[in-house]
Amino acid sequence: MVESLEPVIEKHPEYRKAKILERIIEPERIILFRVPWMDDQGNVHVNRGFRIEANSAIGPHKGGLRFHASVNLGILKFLAFEQVFKNALTTLPMGGGKGGSDFDPKGKSDNEVMRFCQSFMSELFRHIGPNTDITAGDIGVGGREIGFLFGPYRRLRDEFTGVLTGKGLNWGGSLIRPEATGYGAVYFASEMLATRNETLEGKTCLVSGSGNVAQYTIEKLLDLGGKAMTISDSSGYIYDEEGIDRKKLAYIIELKNVRRGRVKEYADKFNSAVYTAVDPKLDYNPLWNHKADCAFPSATLNEINTKDAQNLLKNGVHVVSEGANMPTTPNGVQVFLDKGILFGPGKAANAGGVAVSGLEMAQNSMRYSWTREEVDDRLRLIMKSIHSACVEAAERFNTPGNYVNGANIAGFLKVADAMMDQGLV
Ligand code: NDP
Repeated sequence: MVESLEPVIEKHPEYRKAKILERIIEPERIILFRVPWMDDQGNVHVNRGFRIEANSAIGPHKGGLRFHASVNLGILKFLAFEQVFKNALTTLPMGGGKGGSDFDPKGKSDNEVMRFCQSFMSELFRHIGPNTDITAGDIGVGGREIGFLFGPYRRLRDEFTGVLTGKGLNWGGSLIRPEATGYGAVYFASEMLATRNETLEGKTCLVSGSGNVAQYTIEKLLDLGGKAMTISDSSGYIYDEEGIDRKKLAYIIELKNVRRGRVKEYADKFNSAVYTAVDPKLDYNPLWNHKADCAFPSATLNEINTKDAQNLLKNGVHVVSEGANMPTTPNGVQVFLDKGILFGPGKAANAGGVAVSGLEMAQNSMRYSWTREEVDDRLRLIMKSIHSACVEAAERFNTPGNYVNGANIAGFLKVADAMMDQGLV
């Protein structure tokens, strides 16, 4: 990030004088608290709760809560820092934040998760609010947890406001929120292709993951004429030589969201598909070693290493749009940049999710709900403007076509200029 910003700081000595970088790196506020809770057997447990309020120069803090055993202050500070720039790119007035706990909901009963969420919110409620800090889901925090967090907030504050996004549709949630990240990553790819007078029509695509982002990436690819050939989970991947059509996508959604099954079952159901289990001895991911035009990494961190990036290029991939957060290692990113392919970094390409969270906040403030079409149209326009902002910033600082620099610089400039306008605070 700082490497991308060097030419900006050179051109704007006023940022250096005002110590904008030093100030942006330091969160505005860190809240750290004890979360005691009782399991179903009556044993007492104590976890740590965190909320990092990174920057509110362009709007109230906004960012998800992560419940996972790996959560610590360092990881959340880094995620909150990244969130500041992603949110700035969306064009919506949202600052950045992140939070969570080292509590892991996996294997816990609904009652245990509810008691944990109630205890967590009985401290957090005094630090957040619809005009100061709006939280949301992330790893380990889905619809169930958002409900269990909103309930105690509403009771303790005695108010019904949009302090959390990702809510249920009948109590303040927005249409298209579940679809937004996957749809957005496809819209971003489509914008990148348009710079070379190409479209997604007829393009073959490698998609990883089979969760929320992967499912709606496949759906939007079908809408725009693309053909997804793969899905994966942490056990292995599927290659379907005929491509994944709507009927097969409905099967995946039912398999993963309802039955909580494994992708292996897809190959038992459809003859055109081959399942390959993960081989821990391999130093590359065979999913990325098939002939295709585009890749949509939508599973997890560091899932494309240098060798995978080289394999993708060898197989004809010339568009990569990151649905997941940082799925490509820094060396893998360099392989793409050296070759000059269309590479959309997650900070820009997957910003559709938080953008629709911003639209949920707007609808909550108005006490009004937009239709599916209205939200989808706004999402498409937001992804278009994120793309233009990246292109313009990259050109302005002499790295045309480099969306990594473009995203970092465009996000930074918006926040830095707001901080300059508001003086030393
Ligand atoms: P889900 O939990 O719905 O799905 C994740 C998928 O990735 C699952 O199919 C999971 O398989 C698979 N997976 C996990 N680890 C691996 C692995 N090592 N190899 C192959 N597959 C793996 O998450 P989402 O779809 O919501 O999120 C995916 C990514 O997108 C994450 O990086 C997330 O941070 C990012 N993201 C999500 C946003 C959103 O709105 N949902 C917004 C912005 C970014 P298994 O079932 O085996 O665990």
